[in-house]
Amino acid sequence: MKTHAIIPIFIPHAGCPHDCVFCNQKAITARTEIPTVDDAEDTILRHLATIRKNPDIRTVEIAFYGGSFTAIPLEQQASWLALAQKYKQEGLVDKIHLSTRPDCITQPVLEQLAAYGADIIELGVQSFDGEVLRRAARGHDAAVVFRAAEMIRQYGFQLGIQLMTGLPGDSYEKCIQSAEQTIRVAPEIARIYPTVIIRDTALFHMYEAGQYQPPDLMETVRTVKDMYRKLTGAGIQVIRVGLKSTDLIRNGDGTVVGGYHPAFRQLVESEIAREDLETQLAGETEGEVRFRAHPASFSNMIGHRKKNRIYFKEHYPGLNIRYQQDPAIPPGAYHVAWLTEQGEV
Ligand code: SF4
Repeated sequence: MKTHAIIPIFIPHAGCPHDCVFCNQKAITARTEIPTVDDAEDTILRHLATIRKNPDIRTVEIAFYGGSFTAIPLEQQASWLALAQKYKQEGLVDKIHLSTRPDCITQPVLEQLAAYGADIIELGVQSFDGEVLRRAARGHDAAVVFRAAEMIRQYGFQLGIQLMTGLPGDSYEKCIQSAEQTIRVAPEIARIYPTVIIRDTALFHMYEAGQYQPPDLMETVRTVKDMYRKLTGAGIQVIRVGLKSTDLIRNGDGTVVGGYHPAFRQLVESEIAREDLETQLAGETEGEVRFRAHPASFSNMIGHRKKNRIYFKEHYPGLNIRYQQDPAIPPGAYHVAWLTEQGEV
């Protein structure tokens, strides 16, 4: 049941002086109008009309995505923020959310965001590894993330961290270290995006020249799964894993050359389910067993295209497994129960 709605206001590349190798925002900005305040208000009203029809929605956010919001001149930021604040003051919106670069966090920026009632600041960090940041042409180091996070905390904003996997020079170990550094920063929310190669980016040209190869899909799933476990284990809510198709549409013509899977989150969550179930089997290979999950997690337990069912059938032919839904089990947890002569254990 969807209880949280986001009204996205997409501000392409505006204000961003950088050219990260994976980003095609500049090309989009060249052919996409930056929304005016009126455009943004139309977007808000359109979304609110739909949101009102859904009585389950309890939290509504206006989110400024794309580009680097706080790199835009302060007066321009103020005009969009004033609009969002108006809807917040009218009680139609609960939170104002924005994403930006860690090196675009300054005292005047935070003062203004606080004055307009912004709530959540997400930092596009991508990696905490110096070489990965350099090869991605991020134009900042990891130290700036700690400074920015500290300042954001002092103002009482909620913090989000966005990480990427599979950038040039990246590795499983570096991704895990980035997750560990994220835990040190202690954001409330995080997102993990596997690198996607989009046509006409520097990364695309590197790929064409044979200088970059995206990691294998299942290798990426395992990396992201271990990052996800670390982050959620530390109490950080991972609000997104992988790009959605709508993100790609926003990314211009959506021409993706590699690194994208439409069900990536499910691949990661299914892998977690398989591991958790297998751990509970504790090496037992025979018997009558029930695998149970909350209805919301049932498809993850089965796996994308029944991958987990197939896996257990092939690897545990001596087990008679039934897959069951159980609303009493928390979403994201997977339980194994054995049927014995004494009953269920
Ligand atoms: S900072 Fe963000 S908007 Fe700017 S080039 Fe990099 S990814 Fe694109």
